[in-house]
Amino acid sequence: MFKKITFVIFLIIVGIGARYLYAAFKNNKSPTSVTTTQTQSQLSTNTSFNSKQYSTTDPGSIWVIVNKQTPLPLTYEPRDLLVPAVPLRLGAAEMQMKIRSITAVDLTQLFTDSNAAGLQLQFGSGYRSAAYQKVLYDGYVSSMGKSEADRSSARPGHSEHQTGLALDFTRIDGKCHLDTCFADTEEGKWLAQNAYKYGFILRYSVDKEAITGYMFEPWHYRYVGKELAAQMHTTGIKTLEEFFNIGAAPDYN
Ligand SMILES: [Zn+2]
Repeated sequence: MFKKITFVIFLIIVGIGARYLYAAFKNNKSPTSVTTTQTQSQLSTNTSFNSKQYSTTDPGSIWVIVNKQTPLPLTYEPRDLLVPAVPLRLGAAEMQMKIRSITAVDLTQLFTDSNAAGLQLQFGSGYRSAAYQKVLYDGYVSSMGKSEADRSSARPGHSEHQTGLALDFTRIDGKCHLDTCFADTEEGKWLAQNAYKYGFILRYSVDKEAITGYMFEPWHYRYVGKELAAQMHTTGIKTLEEFFNIGAAPDYN
């Protein structure tokens, strides 16, 4: 009887030992293979990025660069404008509540995810025609003077909003609307950290006025597609002007 119990205990110890050895072997194997896979995927992400994939000068390209040096034709109007199915600041009939359809899937997902995170983002302003931009710009000039107006509002043909790829985010309660304090709201912080995952970049970053020609605008985001947004995030390059090496656009000619 005693021998039988000893034998059973012996079997249990051997069993535990074998399982421990197997687990140790497995653990030793898997981290190596995971590391290899990650390295390969990182390499392929970086090397497969093609910076010539889209035009930066064609008004209809998702990579088009519009600034104080490179305007759009005043007559340019995107053909695929729509009103996205997200919380809107104005009535759906307003021109500014439109954005290009090419952004819609990613934009809707951004709103869905930010809402799930408990945030109250709102679509503040999207597409603007050159004619409407003129009305806005003239208003800024008469209220603050030309040089101040040029720091925050674009002249007709020079606004990224005319591409239909840019939008101003705001909060449903209107707090910090078009104000730098938007950067300190939970919504502003979330966008700064996550917008690139949906193909959007913060277009007028802090301390980049000498490059972009505009003051820090924590609410203004530009759709460039997930691939370019991820590449800019990975490389840490904050402006389209620097990424594509086209030169700074601090002012008009
Ligand atoms: Zn804007």
